[in-house]
Amino acid sequence: MIFFSITLLTPDFIQAAASRAGFDACGVAALDELPEDLLRRFCEWLQHGYHAGMRYMERHLQKRADPRLLLKSGARTAVVTLFSYKPQRPQPPHLPQVSCYAYGRDYHGVIKQKLWGLLAALQAEHPALRGRAFVDTAPLQERYLAVKAGLGWVGKNGMLISKELGSYTFVGTLLLSDAVGSDAQEQKSRCGACTRCLSACPTGAIRDNGVVNSQLCLSYATIEKYANPLQGEDAGAAGRAGMAKDEKTAAAGYIFGCDICQDACPWNKKAKVAAHSEMQLLPQLLTLTADDWLEMSDDDFEKIFEQSPIRRATLQGMKENVRAIQQPNSK
Ligand code: SF4
Ligand code: SF4
Repeated sequence: MIFFSITLLTPDFIQAAASRAGFDACGVAALDELPEDLLRRFCEWLQHGYHAGMRYMERHLQKRADPRLLLKSGARTAVVTLFSYKPQRPQPPHLPQVSCYAYGRDYHGVIKQKLWGLLAALQAEHPALRGRAFVDTAPLQERYLAVKAGLGWVGKNGMLISKELGSYTFVGTLLLSDAVGSDAQEQKSRCGACTRCLSACPTGAIRDNGVVNSQLCLSYATIEKYANPLQGEDAGAAGRAGMAKDEKTAAAGYIFGCDICQDACPWNKKAKVAAHSEMQLLPQLLTLTADDWLEMSDDDFEKIFEQSPIRRATLQGMKENVRAIQQPNSK
């Protein structure tokens, strides 16, 4: 008689496979429709225009309301992963600043590849399992799913915060066709009475607990305007040039993204550094001055930032951002 050993698709089995795939944390949540109040708050956020020029956020509302629809055969489980990018050492503060998520390689590719590796590992034991990987690119409330999977809470700056890893993490999600009995416990917010991120934000972009107005956020203004030029035009007042008049904003020194509200968060001070090789600081970011940026050729930009998310902002956009921090009183 031949005996087959079957590994059950359990949260423990998935978490162990996620750890082997290189993730720093992993949680599992059963999929359902989005809670009504969460969907209502998202729609209000859109109505206020807080998504600025990111028109794609308005699309596929039905799928956003019911993530089970994101898999053809129907998704039943979300495997949510965290990958830390807290830097070992920051850029020298006198140089034009880049958000530390962009210190190394473009996270979309890095995380997607790891999620596919995780799916392949699960399918090796469960060949009929179907799955789909998401990193920031789908109508999916990833932070809500991360909370549901027990990985942390959404802070007042709108970021997912893990007790161990802080908020400098990429959230990646694998939707699976099969049910997995998850007993994950949602964590309550540990922000308490703290308002450090709200006070630290130079543009007043954090409107309310967890509600960020992208029209005022440097992360939006320094990147999306250039990555999606037509949407940027639609965004009205949004855009780095419009903000350049504000000395406080210019003094922040950011030319790609912004880490100010995350740097202010006490949970990031305690967070461990994972030091993933993919996220190591590009050596050029240790030396590039404002003048170097302004004199950079297209060829050099392509060469240096070939694998970097900074490419999204285009060289022209980066130069505009550099001028904005140099001339706070003029457009
Ligand atoms: S990323 Fe910067 S501009 Fe945006 S909310 Fe945080 S501190 Fe404000
Ligand atoms: S700075 Fe304070 S309020 Fe803001 S996310 Fe961190 S703990 Fe929460």
